[in-house]
Amino acid sequence: MKKIQMKTPLVEMDGDEMTRILWQMIKDELLLPFVDLKTEYYDLGLPEREKTKDQVTIDSANATLKYGVAVKCATITPNKQRVEEYNLTEMWKSPNGTIRAILDGTVFRAPILIDSIKPAVRNWKKPITIARHAYGDVYKATEHRVPCKGKAELLFTGEDGSEFRETIYDFECGGVLQGQYNKDSSIESFAHSCFQYALDTKQDLWFATKDTISKKYDQTFKLTFQEIFDRDYKAKFDEAGITYFYTLIDDAVARVIRSEGGYIWACKNYDGDVMSDMVSTAFGSLAMMTSVLVSPDGKYEYEAAHGTVTRHYYRYLKGEDTSTNPMATIYAWSGALRKRGELDGLSDLVTFADKLEEACIDTLNDGIMTKDLVGLVSEGYPATAVNSIGFIKAIRKRLEAKLA
Ligand code: NAP
Ligand code: MG
Repeated sequence: MKKIQMKTPLVEMDGDEMTRILWQMIKDELLLPFVDLKTEYYDLGLPEREKTKDQVTIDSANATLKYGVAVKCATITPNKQRVEEYNLTEMWKSPNGTIRAILDGTVFRAPILIDSIKPAVRNWKKPITIARHAYGDVYKATEHRVPCKGKAELLFTGEDGSEFRETIYDFECGGVLQGQYNKDSSIESFAHSCFQYALDTKQDLWFATKDTISKKYDQTFKLTFQEIFDRDYKAKFDEAGITYFYTLIDDAVARVIRSEGGYIWACKNYDGDVMSDMVSTAFGSLAMMTSVLVSPDGKYEYEAAHGTVTRHYYRYLKGEDTSTNPMATIYAWSGALRKRGELDGLSDLVTFADKLEEACIDTLNDGIMTKDLVGLVSEGYPATAVNSIGFIKAIRKRLEAKLA
Protein backbone atom coordinates (compact mmCIF):
# COMPACT_ATOMS: atom_id res chain seq x y z
CA MET A 1 0.00 0.00 0.00
CA LYS A 2 1.28 3.45 -0.90
CA LYS A 3 1.73 5.67 2.11
CA ILE A 4 -0.24 8.91 2.41
CA GLN A 5 1.99 11.90 1.71
CA MET A 6 2.39 15.08 3.73
CA LYS A 7 3.65 18.50 2.68
CA THR A 8 4.35 20.57 5.78
CA PRO A 9 5.69 18.93 8.94
CA LEU A 10 3.65 18.74 12.12
CA VAL A 11 5.33 20.07 15.21
CA GLU A 12 5.64 16.94 17.37
CA MET A 13 6.00 17.52 21.12
CA ASP A 14 6.86 14.30 22.93
CA GLY A 15 6.17 14.02 26.66
CA ASP A 16 6.46 11.95 29.82
CA GLU A 17 5.65 8.73 31.60
CA MET A 18 2.74 6.52 30.47
CA THR A 19 1.62 8.88 27.74
CA ARG A 20 5.14 8.81 26.28
CA ILE A 21 4.82 5.02 26.04
CA LEU A 22 1.40 5.36 24.38
CA TRP A 23 2.81 8.02 22.04
CA GLN A 24 5.30 5.55 20.57
CA MET A 25 2.72 2.75 20.32
CA ILE A 26 0.33 5.07 18.45
CA LYS A 27 3.03 6.11 16.01
CA ASP A 28 4.25 2.55 15.41
CA GLU A 29 0.84 0.91 15.03
CA LEU A 30 -1.54 3.58 13.73
CA LEU A 31 0.48 6.22 11.91
CA LEU A 32 3.83 5.12 10.48
CA PRO A 33 2.45 2.09 8.57
CA PHE A 34 -0.02 4.33 6.69
CA VAL A 35 1.34 7.87 6.56
CA ASP A 36 4.70 9.12 5.32
CA LEU A 37 4.81 11.04 8.58
CA LYS A 38 6.61 14.36 8.47
CA THR A 39 7.25 15.95 11.84
CA GLU A 40 9.64 18.38 13.40
CA TYR A 41 10.38 16.59 16.67
CA TYR A 42 10.74 18.31 20.04
CA ASP A 43 11.30 16.21 23.13
CA LEU A 44 9.40 17.91 25.97
CA GLY A 45 10.08 14.98 28.28
CA LEU A 46 11.33 16.29 31.62
CA PRO A 47 14.96 15.05 31.21
CA GLU A 48 15.30 16.99 27.95
CA ARG A 49 13.69 20.10 29.44
CA GLU A 50 16.24 19.89 32.24
CA LYS A 51 19.09 19.38 29.78
CA THR A 52 18.10 22.39 27.64
CA LYS A 53 17.09 24.58 30.61
CA ASP A 54 13.55 24.42 29.18
CA GLN A 55 14.65 26.03 25.91
CA VAL A 56 13.15 23.05 24.05
CA THR A 57 9.66 24.08 25.20
CA ILE A 58 10.14 27.61 23.90
CA ASP A 59 11.56 26.28 20.61
CA SER A 60 8.59 23.96 20.16
CA ALA A 61 6.13 26.82 20.69
CA ASN A 62 7.99 29.01 18.19
CA ALA A 63 7.95 26.15 15.69
CA THR A 64 4.16 26.05 16.15
CA LEU A 65 4.02 29.74 15.26
CA LYS A 66 6.06 28.95 12.15
CA TYR A 67 4.24 25.84 10.88
CA GLY A 68 0.78 26.39 12.36
CA VAL A 69 -0.08 22.90 13.68
CA ALA A 70 1.36 20.95 16.62
CA VAL A 71 0.53 17.72 18.43
CA LYS A 72 1.55 17.41 22.06
CA CYS A 73 1.95 14.50 24.45
CA ALA A 74 1.12 15.04 28.13
CA THR A 75 4.06 16.34 30.16
CA ILE A 76 4.97 16.52 33.83
CA THR A 77 4.57 19.91 35.48
CA PRO A 78 7.32 19.73 38.09
CA ASN A 79 6.54 20.18 41.77
CA LYS A 80 8.84 19.70 44.75
CA GLN A 81 8.61 15.93 44.59
CA ARG A 82 9.48 15.88 40.87
CA VAL A 83 12.49 18.11 41.45
CA GLU A 84 13.87 15.36 43.68
CA GLU A 85 12.71 12.47 41.50
CA TYR A 86 14.32 13.91 38.35
CA ASN A 87 17.17 15.68 40.08
CA LEU A 88 16.18 19.03 38.54
CA THR A 89 18.24 22.19 38.86
CA GLU A 90 15.05 24.25 38.76
CA MET A 91 11.31 23.75 39.12
CA TRP A 92 10.61 24.26 35.41
CA LYS A 93 7.33 25.94 34.56
CA SER A 94 4.33 24.09 33.15
CA PRO A 95 5.04 23.49 29.43
CA ASN A 96 1.38 24.14 28.67
CA GLY A 97 1.63 27.52 30.39
CA THR A 98 4.76 28.41 28.42
CA ILE A 99 3.24 27.34 25.10
CA ARG A 100 -0.02 29.14 25.85
CA ALA A 101 1.84 32.35 26.67
CA ILE A 102 3.71 32.23 23.34
CA LEU A 103 0.70 31.26 21.23
CA ASP A 104 -1.66 33.52 23.20
CA GLY A 105 -4.41 31.01 22.73
CA THR A 106 -7.67 29.71 24.09
CA VAL A 107 -8.12 26.06 25.10
CA PHE A 108 -11.09 24.14 23.66
CA ARG A 109 -12.08 20.85 25.30
CA ALA A 110 -14.55 18.38 23.84
CA PRO A 111 -15.54 14.86 24.90
CA ILE A 112 -15.47 11.85 22.56
CA LEU A 113 -18.91 10.21 22.68
CA ILE A 114 -19.83 6.56 22.13
CA ASP A 115 -23.27 4.92 22.14
CA SER A 116 -22.62 2.62 25.08
CA ILE A 117 -21.58 5.35 27.53
CA LYS A 118 -24.56 7.55 28.35
CA PRO A 119 -23.95 11.09 29.63
CA ALA A 120 -25.23 11.76 33.15
CA VAL A 121 -27.50 14.39 31.54
CA ARG A 122 -29.95 12.26 29.54
CA ASN A 123 -30.76 14.79 26.82
CA TRP A 124 -27.10 15.45 25.86
CA LYS A 125 -26.69 13.86 22.43
CA LYS A 126 -23.74 15.76 20.99
CA PRO A 127 -20.48 16.95 22.55
CA ILE A 128 -20.34 20.28 24.37
CA THR A 129 -17.04 22.04 23.76
CA ILE A 130 -15.84 24.31 26.55
CA ALA A 131 -13.66 27.26 25.55
CA ARG A 132 -11.89 28.58 28.62
CA HIS A 133 -10.24 32.00 28.71
CA ALA A 134 -7.00 30.99 30.40
CA TYR A 135 -5.77 34.43 31.43
CA GLY A 136 -6.22 36.72 34.43
CA ASP A 137 -9.21 37.22 36.75
CA VAL A 138 -9.08 35.37 40.06
CA TYR A 139 -6.01 33.37 38.91
CA LYS A 140 -3.91 36.54 38.91
CA ALA A 141 -5.70 38.35 41.73
CA THR A 142 -4.09 40.23 44.59
CA GLU A 143 -5.63 39.31 47.91
CA HIS A 144 -5.58 40.66 51.40
CA ARG A 145 -6.82 39.27 54.67
CA VAL A 146 -8.22 42.37 56.32
CA PRO A 147 -7.14 42.18 59.99
CA CYS A 148 -9.12 45.02 61.57
CA LYS A 149 -11.41 48.01 61.13
CA GLY A 150 -10.29 50.19 58.23
CA LYS A 151 -11.02 51.51 54.74
CA ALA A 152 -10.35 49.61 51.49
CA GLU A 153 -10.00 51.67 48.31
CA LEU A 154 -9.55 50.92 44.63
CA LEU A 155 -6.81 53.15 43.26
CA PHE A 156 -5.57 53.44 39.68
CA THR A 157 -2.81 55.86 38.74
CA GLY A 158 -2.69 56.44 34.99
CA GLU A 159 0.54 57.02 33.10
CA ASP A 160 -1.23 60.08 31.67
CA GLY A 161 -1.57 61.56 35.17
CA SER A 162 -5.21 60.56 35.61
CA GLU A 163 -6.37 58.99 38.84
CA PHE A 164 -9.30 56.79 39.83
CA ARG A 165 -10.08 56.29 43.51
CA GLU A 166 -13.17 54.72 45.01
CA THR A 167 -14.02 53.20 48.35
CA ILE A 168 -14.56 49.47 48.15
CA TYR A 169 -15.71 49.08 51.73
CA ASP A 170 -15.42 50.78 55.08
CA PHE A 171 -14.58 47.78 57.22
CA GLU A 172 -16.12 47.92 60.69
CA CYS A 173 -14.41 44.59 61.44
CA GLY A 174 -11.92 42.17 59.85
CA GLY A 175 -12.67 40.59 56.45
CA VAL A 176 -11.26 39.70 53.03
CA LEU A 177 -10.30 41.73 49.99
CA GLN A 178 -9.36 40.90 46.40
CA GLY A 179 -8.22 42.82 43.32
CA GLN A 180 -8.67 41.25 39.85
CA TYR A 181 -7.75 42.40 36.39
CA ASN A 182 -7.85 41.45 32.75
CA LYS A 183 -6.50 43.09 29.59
CA ASP A 184 -8.36 44.30 26.48
CA SER A 185 -5.79 42.52 24.29
CA SER A 186 -6.36 39.19 26.02
CA ILE A 187 -10.16 39.49 25.90
CA GLU A 188 -9.94 40.33 22.18
CA SER A 189 -7.69 37.32 21.52
CA PHE A 190 -10.12 35.12 23.42
CA ALA A 191 -13.00 36.38 21.27
CA HIS A 192 -11.13 35.87 17.99
CA SER A 193 -10.07 32.33 18.97
CA CYS A 194 -13.67 31.43 19.85
CA PHE A 195 -15.21 32.84 16.65
CA GLN A 196 -12.44 31.25 14.58
CA TYR A 197 -12.94 27.84 16.17
CA ALA A 198 -16.73 28.03 15.78
CA LEU A 199 -16.23 28.61 12.03
CA ASP A 200 -13.66 25.80 11.83
CA THR A 201 -15.92 23.27 13.49
CA LYS A 202 -19.22 24.70 12.18
CA GLN A 203 -20.77 24.87 15.61
CA ASP A 204 -22.81 27.61 17.29
CA LEU A 205 -20.98 29.69 19.87
CA TRP A 206 -22.46 30.54 23.26
CA PHE A 207 -20.91 33.06 25.62
CA ALA A 208 -22.05 34.09 29.08
CA THR A 209 -20.90 36.40 31.87
CA LYS A 210 -22.50 38.21 34.81
CA ASP A 211 -22.66 41.61 33.14
CA THR A 212 -25.83 42.67 34.98
CA ILE A 213 -23.89 42.68 38.25
CA SER A 214 -20.39 43.40 36.96
CA LYS A 215 -21.21 46.49 34.93
CA LYS A 216 -17.64 47.35 33.90
CA TYR A 217 -15.62 44.13 34.18
CA ASP A 218 -17.95 41.48 32.73
CA GLN A 219 -19.64 44.10 30.57
CA THR A 220 -16.29 44.63 28.83
CA PHE A 221 -16.17 40.94 27.91
CA LYS A 222 -19.71 41.10 26.55
CA LEU A 223 -19.18 44.27 24.52
CA THR A 224 -15.81 43.11 23.16
CA PHE A 225 -17.29 39.85 21.89
CA GLN A 226 -20.27 41.65 20.31
CA GLU A 227 -18.11 44.30 18.63
CA ILE A 228 -15.66 41.77 17.17
CA PHE A 229 -18.50 39.52 16.07
CA ASP A 230 -20.37 42.31 14.27
CA ARG A 231 -17.22 43.64 12.62
CA ASP A 232 -15.32 40.49 11.61
CA TYR A 233 -17.48 37.39 11.84
CA LYS A 234 -21.21 38.06 11.37
CA ALA A 235 -21.16 37.58 7.61
CA LYS A 236 -19.00 34.46 7.88
CA PHE A 237 -21.31 32.96 10.52
CA ASP A 238 -24.37 33.63 8.32
CA GLU A 239 -22.64 31.94 5.42
CA ALA A 240 -21.70 28.91 7.56
CA GLY A 241 -25.23 28.73 9.00
CA ILE A 242 -24.10 29.05 12.60
CA THR A 243 -25.02 31.56 15.31
CA TYR A 244 -23.42 33.54 18.11
CA PHE A 245 -25.53 33.68 21.25
CA TYR A 246 -24.90 35.73 24.39
CA THR A 247 -26.74 35.24 27.66
CA LEU A 248 -26.23 35.60 31.41
CA ILE A 249 -24.14 32.88 33.04
CA ASP A 250 -26.99 31.58 35.22
CA ASP A 251 -29.30 31.41 32.23
CA ALA A 252 -26.55 29.64 30.27
CA VAL A 253 -26.13 26.95 32.92
CA ALA A 254 -29.86 26.19 32.82
CA ARG A 255 -29.89 26.10 29.01
CA VAL A 256 -26.82 23.84 28.84
CA ILE A 257 -28.49 21.24 31.04
CA ARG A 258 -31.68 21.31 28.94
CA SER A 259 -29.79 21.25 25.61
CA GLU A 260 -28.86 18.45 23.22
CA GLY A 261 -25.23 19.68 23.08
CA GLY A 262 -23.44 20.30 19.81
CA TYR A 263 -22.12 23.82 20.45
CA ILE A 264 -19.14 25.68 21.89
CA TRP A 265 -19.58 27.26 25.30
CA ALA A 266 -17.11 30.10 25.83
CA CYS A 267 -16.40 30.74 29.51
CA LYS A 268 -14.45 33.27 31.51
CA ASN A 269 -11.46 31.79 33.29
CA TYR A 270 -13.12 30.66 36.52
CA ASP A 271 -16.37 29.53 34.86
CA GLY A 272 -14.32 27.50 32.38
CA ASP A 273 -12.27 25.87 35.13
CA VAL A 274 -15.36 24.73 37.02
CA MET A 275 -17.65 23.98 34.08
CA SER A 276 -15.10 21.95 32.12
CA ASP A 277 -14.73 19.56 35.06
CA MET A 278 -18.49 19.31 35.38
CA VAL A 279 -19.07 18.77 31.66
CA SER A 280 -16.27 16.22 31.26
CA THR A 281 -17.41 14.21 34.29
CA ALA A 282 -21.02 14.28 33.11
CA PHE A 283 -19.96 13.01 29.69
CA GLY A 284 -18.01 10.10 31.19
CA SER A 285 -14.25 10.20 31.51
CA LEU A 286 -11.20 12.44 31.46
CA ALA A 287 -9.49 9.82 29.30
CA MET A 288 -12.03 10.64 26.55
CA MET A 289 -11.52 14.40 26.64
CA THR A 290 -9.75 16.08 23.74
CA SER A 291 -8.11 19.46 23.95
CA VAL A 292 -6.86 21.99 21.42
CA LEU A 293 -5.18 25.34 21.93
CA VAL A 294 -6.18 27.82 19.21
CA SER A 295 -4.37 31.12 18.83
CA PRO A 296 -6.23 34.23 17.64
CA ASP A 297 -4.37 34.11 14.31
CA GLY A 298 -5.24 30.45 13.72
CA LYS A 299 -2.35 28.30 15.03
CA TYR A 300 -3.37 24.95 16.54
CA GLU A 301 -1.87 22.73 19.22
CA TYR A 302 -3.69 19.41 19.80
CA GLU A 303 -3.37 17.29 22.94
CA ALA A 304 -5.23 15.08 25.41
CA ALA A 305 -6.88 16.79 28.38
CA HIS A 306 -5.46 14.27 30.88
CA GLY A 307 -1.95 14.10 32.35
CA THR A 308 0.88 11.58 32.10
CA VAL A 309 -1.05 8.91 34.10
CA THR A 310 1.78 8.45 36.60
CA ARG A 311 0.16 5.64 38.60
CA HIS A 312 -0.08 3.45 35.51
CA TYR A 313 3.51 4.28 34.53
CA TYR A 314 4.93 3.03 37.82
CA ARG A 315 3.02 -0.23 37.31
CA TYR A 316 4.33 -0.42 33.74
CA LEU A 317 7.90 0.03 35.01
CA LYS A 318 7.39 -2.92 37.34
CA GLY A 319 6.45 -5.00 34.32
CA GLU A 320 2.75 -5.13 35.21
CA ASP A 321 0.10 -5.10 32.51
CA THR A 322 -1.43 -1.64 32.02
CA SER A 323 -4.73 -0.68 30.48
CA THR A 324 -4.28 3.04 29.90
CA ASN A 325 -6.76 4.66 27.53
CA PRO A 326 -5.02 6.14 24.45
CA MET A 327 -8.19 7.62 22.89
CA ALA A 328 -7.57 11.30 23.67
CA THR A 329 -3.94 11.03 22.51
CA ILE A 330 -4.97 9.31 19.26
CA TYR A 331 -7.50 12.10 18.69
CA ALA A 332 -4.76 14.67 19.26
CA TRP A 333 -2.92 13.07 16.32
CA SER A 334 -6.00 12.75 14.14
CA GLY A 335 -6.98 16.34 14.91
CA ALA A 336 -3.54 17.63 14.00
CA LEU A 337 -3.28 15.52 10.82
CA ARG A 338 -6.76 16.61 9.70
CA LYS A 339 -5.93 20.28 10.26
CA ARG A 340 -2.59 19.87 8.42
CA GLY A 341 -4.44 18.18 5.57
CA GLU A 342 -6.99 20.99 5.38
CA LEU A 343 -4.34 23.70 5.40
CA ASP A 344 -2.22 21.95 2.76
CA GLY A 345 -5.13 20.81 0.60
CA LEU A 346 -4.35 17.10 1.13
CA SER A 347 -7.70 15.33 1.04
CA ASP A 348 -6.09 11.89 1.57
CA LEU A 349 -4.66 13.05 4.85
CA VAL A 350 -8.03 14.44 5.96
CA THR A 351 -9.71 11.15 5.02
CA PHE A 352 -7.06 9.20 6.92
CA ALA A 353 -7.77 11.24 10.06
CA ASP A 354 -11.51 10.58 9.70
CA LYS A 355 -10.96 6.85 9.23
CA LEU A 356 -8.60 6.63 12.17
CA GLU A 357 -11.29 8.14 14.40
CA GLU A 358 -13.95 5.84 12.89
CA ALA A 359 -11.74 2.83 13.59
CA CYS A 360 -11.43 3.94 17.25
CA ILE A 361 -15.20 4.32 17.61
CA ASP A 362 -15.87 0.98 15.86
CA THR A 363 -13.47 -0.75 18.25
CA LEU A 364 -15.28 0.72 21.26
CA ASN A 365 -18.68 -0.11 19.76
CA ASP A 366 -17.47 -3.71 19.36
CA GLY A 367 -16.94 -3.70 23.12
CA ILE A 368 -13.15 -3.72 23.02
CA MET A 369 -11.91 -1.06 25.44
CA THR A 370 -9.50 -0.14 28.18
CA LYS A 371 -10.35 -0.86 31.82
CA ASP A 372 -11.38 2.70 32.71
CA LEU A 373 -14.30 2.58 30.27
CA VAL A 374 -15.68 -0.88 31.09
CA GLY A 375 -17.29 0.35 34.30
CA LEU A 376 -19.02 3.22 32.51
CA VAL A 377 -20.77 1.16 29.84
CA SER A 378 -24.58 0.88 30.10
CA GLU A 379 -26.22 -2.50 30.58
CA GLY A 380 -26.81 -4.49 27.43
CA TYR A 381 -23.73 -3.24 25.57
CA PRO A 382 -20.62 -5.39 25.08
CA ALA A 383 -17.54 -4.43 27.13
CA THR A 384 -14.31 -6.39 27.46
CA ALA A 385 -11.17 -4.89 28.97
CA VAL A 386 -7.91 -5.22 27.07
CA ASN A 387 -4.49 -3.70 27.72
CA SER A 388 -3.28 -0.59 25.87
CA ILE A 389 -1.42 -2.39 23.13
CA GLY A 390 -4.29 -4.87 22.65
CA PHE A 391 -6.67 -1.95 22.22
CA ILE A 392 -4.39 -0.17 19.76
CA LYS A 393 -3.92 -3.36 17.72
CA ALA A 394 -7.71 -3.81 17.60
CA ILE A 395 -7.98 -0.28 16.21
CA ARG A 396 -5.25 -1.03 13.68
CA LYS A 397 -7.12 -4.07 12.38
CA ARG A 398 -10.22 -1.96 11.72
CA LEU A 399 -8.20 0.88 10.25
CA GLU A 400 -6.47 -1.46 7.80
CA ALA A 401 -9.86 -2.75 6.65
CA LYS A 402 -11.12 0.81 6.11
CA LEU A 403 -8.05 1.84 4.13
CA ALA A 404 -7.92 -1.31 1.98
P1 NAP B 1 -3.59 12.22 35.18
O1 NAP B 1 -2.31 11.86 34.57
O2 NAP B 1 -4.63 12.81 34.29
O3 NAP B 1 -4.18 10.93 35.91
C1 NAP B 1 -5.05 10.93 37.00
C2 NAP B 1 -5.83 9.62 37.06
O4 NAP B 1 -6.88 9.66 36.09
C3 NAP B 1 -5.02 8.40 36.69
O5 NAP B 1 -4.29 7.90 37.79
C4 NAP B 1 -6.08 7.47 36.18
O6 NAP B 1 -6.85 6.91 37.23
C5 NAP B 1 -7.01 8.42 35.43
N1 NAP B 1 -6.60 8.61 34.01
C6 NAP B 1 -6.18 9.77 33.42
N2 NAP B 1 -5.94 9.56 32.12
C7 NAP B 1 -6.20 8.26 31.89
C8 NAP B 1 -6.10 7.45 30.72
N3 NAP B 1 -5.71 7.95 29.55
N4 NAP B 1 -6.44 6.13 30.83
C9 NAP B 1 -6.85 5.62 32.00
N5 NAP B 1 -6.94 6.35 33.14
C10 NAP B 1 -6.63 7.66 33.07
O7 NAP B 1 -3.38 13.29 36.36
P2 NAP B 1 -2.31 13.32 37.56
O8 NAP B 1 -2.02 11.94 38.02
O9 NAP B 1 -2.85 14.32 38.48
O10 NAP B 1 -0.99 13.94 36.92
C11 NAP B 1 0.12 13.17 36.46
C12 NAP B 1 1.13 14.09 35.82
O11 NAP B 1 0.56 14.66 34.66
C13 NAP B 1 1.57 15.24 36.72
O12 NAP B 1 2.98 15.31 36.72
C14 NAP B 1 0.99 16.48 36.07
O13 NAP B 1 1.86 17.57 36.16
C15 NAP B 1 0.82 16.05 34.64
N6 NAP B 1 -0.28 16.71 33.90
C16 NAP B 1 -0.03 17.09 32.63
C17 NAP B 1 -1.03 17.64 31.83
C18 NAP B 1 -0.71 18.05 30.43
O14 NAP B 1 0.41 17.86 29.97
N7 NAP B 1 -1.64 18.58 29.71
C19 NAP B 1 -2.32 17.77 32.36
C20 NAP B 1 -2.58 17.33 33.67
C21 NAP B 1 -1.55 16.80 34.42
P3 NAP B 1 -6.52 5.49 37.92
O15 NAP B 1 -5.12 5.57 38.44
O16 NAP B 1 -7.57 5.42 38.98
O17 NAP B 1 -6.66 4.43 36.88
MG1 MG C 1 -10.20 22.59 37.27
